[in-house]
This record gives sequence, structure tokens and C-alpha cells, in this order.
Amino acid sequence: MDTRIPSHVDVAIIGGGIIGISTAWALARSGLRVAVFEKGAVAGEQSSRNWGWIRSVGRDHRELPLALRANALWRELQQQVDVGYRQRGLAYLGRSAADMQGHAKWLEAARPYAVPARLIDAAGLPALLGAQSARDWAGALYNADDGVAEPQLATAAIAGLARAAGCQIFEGCAVRGLDLAAGKVSGVVTERGSVGAAAVVLAGGAWSRLFCGNSGVSFPQLKVHASVLRTTPLETGMDLAINGGDFTCRKRADGGYTVSQLGASTADLTPDSIRLMRQFLPAWMSERKYLKLRVGRRFFEELMMPRRFALDAPTPFEQHRVLDPQPGMAAISTALEKLKAAFPAFAAARVAGAWAGMIDVTPDALPVMSAVDSVPGFFLASGFSGHGFGIGPAAGELMSELVQGKTPSVDPAAFRLSRFA
Ligand SMILES: Cc1cc2nc3c(=O)[nH]c(=O)nc-3n(C[C@H](O)[C@H](O)[C@H](O)COP(=O)(O)OP(=O)(O)OC[C@H]3O[C@@H](n4cnc5c(N)ncnc54)[C@H](O)[C@@H]3O)c2cc1C
Repeated sequence: MDTRIPSHVDVAIIGGGIIGISTAWALARSGLRVAVFEKGAVAGEQSSRNWGWIRSVGRDHRELPLALRANALWRELQQQVDVGYRQRGLAYLGRSAADMQGHAKWLEAARPYAVPARLIDAAGLPALLGAQSARDWAGALYNADDGVAEPQLATAAIAGLARAAGCQIFEGCAVRGLDLAAGKVSGVVTERGSVGAAAVVLAGGAWSRLFCGNSGVSFPQLKVHASVLRTTPLETGMDLAINGGDFTCRKRADGGYTVSQLGASTADLTPDSIRLMRQFLPAWMSERKYLKLRVGRRFFEELMMPRRFALDAPTPFEQHRVLDPQPGMAAISTALEKLKAAFPAFAAARVAGAWAGMIDVTPDALPVMSAVDSVPGFFLASGFSGHGFGIGPAAGELMSELVQGKTPSVDPAAFRLSRFA
């Protein structure tokens, strides 16, 4: 990675996750001078810790144009560099008539977006899944165009493309805050000095609310702790990614499976969850089946973290280089047991590793990808709410268009920060 900080760039990007790196690559391809500043390591946080799903099925319909664009971009990416992309299809299984009605409703609302998803009935499932099931399924919502990529490879590989296009990437280099001149962005203050920039994109994942708050910008965002495991390599015949309700799994490039479940998520009660309770309450209520609320150590850790800090001394971003929480083994072990019970071909699966990540969420579970109206030149791309990996390349393309004032290739109206005003 790069070491010599430039004195000036066209666009400074804060955060080396898939969103910051994809934005940087898109901007660099347009001929702009771009630098990415990452406090820890490229893809050290969510972008290397996720399930690797590239999914249109079950998505909020407002994200579907981005998801379709992303499917095309992943295919193109894999032709240039190994991101572990495989278009193997993705299915949300249903156990009851009510599940299938829910899937049919989603499909009906998705029609205007021409998503090539369809319903599969119970008789069609064995051929689709490739493995015998011991469970009675009612059917599935399936899109053959969806797929997976390898989170351990993807962002680093896109970073390689961005560098080849002229972008500079600095690891171990936190951005402490914004430099402003006459109320407009004039650059960033990093721990290694100031860098002038006409535009700044904050793609700070779970840290964006803290950064925004210290810059006088309100961004309602909380963190959700999510755990994942991977199995030893095994042959089961199942190649597509599936959501079975109480487990999820997808085949990995190393021959094992990444296994988790939607219920493997915990929202710690923190001072921010109290501050943002009114905005997040509807989301907590609708997700209560999957999301456990927990009161614990994190409340005090976040209470001790300063919310306002000066830029001439180390900030919380330098004190927390990589968010690396411990996995909650109970929920993911249960997911593996449920998978084995549902598909006997997984009986020999052993746990080869487990990890966790902090998902950054917004009140409506949609990301913010927009200019920050109160600070000209400042852009925010955060709050991807547990599904930013799959749409990452398209989100980067959209951010690059917004920064350059070009006509956006997908309608960004639903992603404005001002919706929370
Ligand atoms: C367990 C788990 C499973 C998931 N599964 C999926 C999935 O299957 N499909 C999917 O689409 N999505 C999934 N997601 C969500 C997806 O991983 C995220 O939405 C996506 O990676 C977000 O990317 P990002 O670049 O916004 O954030 P991150 O990857 O978190 O990157 C943000 C970066 O910004 C850096 N940073 C922050 N502040 C500063 C600062 N001040 N200075 C310098 N650097 C800074 C951080 O160090 C970090 O590296 C999952 C997430 C988790 C945790």
C-alpha cells in the first residue's frame, strides 16, 4: 500500500471497506486523483467478515436497481481479477403456505424492476438444491442470477484495480476530521497530516455516526453484532446459497460452507440506542424475531468513548484500529445443527473457524448515499444495514456519479441523508 501522503487530491475517501474502495475505483477510472484513508487494514471490518451473498431476492425494492446493476458488475469484475464471484443462484426456502405467500408478494412488487426471480414449488426443490432434504419444504423464492463472492478476496482485489487506475490507498491512517474553508470541505485531517480535497466521501461503516457527529452532522446509525462460522470442506451436492429460516449457508471457494442464521444477530443497548430509540423502535419491533437486545459491557465501552474530540490529538479512530468482536457461538452452532438436521449430506461438517462483525444499520435499513447538504463537498456512503457487500460495486459507481455531479445511473432518492431530518 502507499506510504507518502499527498498534499492535495480531487477526492479523499475515508474507509477502506468495499464501499470506499469501490467508490475510489470508479472515481479513479474517471481520471480523478483519489486517495483512500483506512484507519486499520483494507476490508478489516465488515467487508471481509460477511456471508458473501450477492442477493436480489428478499431485498427492499428500492435497492433492486442497484442490486441488478451490481450483479452485472460482479460478473465483469471476475473477468478482470479473482473476487471469488460465482453466479450459482440464491434461494429463500419456505416451510409453509404463509411463507410462500410472503415470497409471492415480494415477487409481485419486484415485477416493475424486471428481477429474474421466480417461485419454485416443493416438487421442483430437489433438482434445485442438489441435496436431499429431511425437512418438508413448501417451496422457494429463487433467483438464478444471484450469487456469491469471497469477502476475503473481493475488496483487496478491487483495491488492486483502483491502485492500477492511479488511486492511492493508505492503511493504518485514520482521518480525524474534516478541514473546512468558508463552510465548505477543503480536505481532511489525518493522523499523518492534512490533505487538501475538493470532495470527501465518508465510507466509514460502523464509525460513520461518530465521525459525522464530531463534524456537526447528524446520522442515525447503530451497530448490530453478527456471528458466522465456516465448515471444513465437504461434498454435499449443494452449490447455491440458501436461507432456510433458522440457518443460512453458501458454498465457499475453499470447499467448505459459510453458515449462520438471521437470528445470530444481537443489538447491544448503548447510549446511542437510547438517544436514537424513537427512530429505531419500528425497526426493532419488526425485526424482533431475529434480533436479540442485550445489555452488557458495550454500553459502558461506548459511554466512555468521547463524542466530541479535537483534531490535533489521537481520536477514537486511532484507538480502535479494527472492530473485531468475539463470535457468539451458541446461535451459529444451532444454525449448523439445524442445517445438518435439514440436509443429512452436511452430517460430517465440522467447524473450521468462527468470527463476528459489527453491522451498521439505519432506522429504515437502507443505506445513505448522498451529499451532506449542510457541508458542501462532503458525501456520505454508509449504513448498508447488513447487505452492502453484494451491492458494493454498484454503490461505488453511484457514489462516483454523485461526487462528479453526473446523472446517476440508478435513482438515488431513497438514499438521501435528508430523509432522516
Ligand atoms: C456477519 C456479517 C454478514 C454479512 N453478510 C452480508 C452478505 O452476505 N451480503 C451483503 O451484501 N452484505 C453482508 N453484510 C454487510 C456487509 O458486509 C456490509 O454492508 C459492507 O461490508 C459495508 O461496507 P463498508 O465499506 O460500508 O463498511 P466496512 O467494511 O465496515 O468498512 C468501513 C471502513 O472504514 C474504516 N474507517 C472508519 N472510520 C475511519 C476513519 N475515521 N479513518 C479511516 N478509516 C476509517 C474502518 O476501519 C473500516 O475498515 C454482512 C455483514 C456482517 C458483519
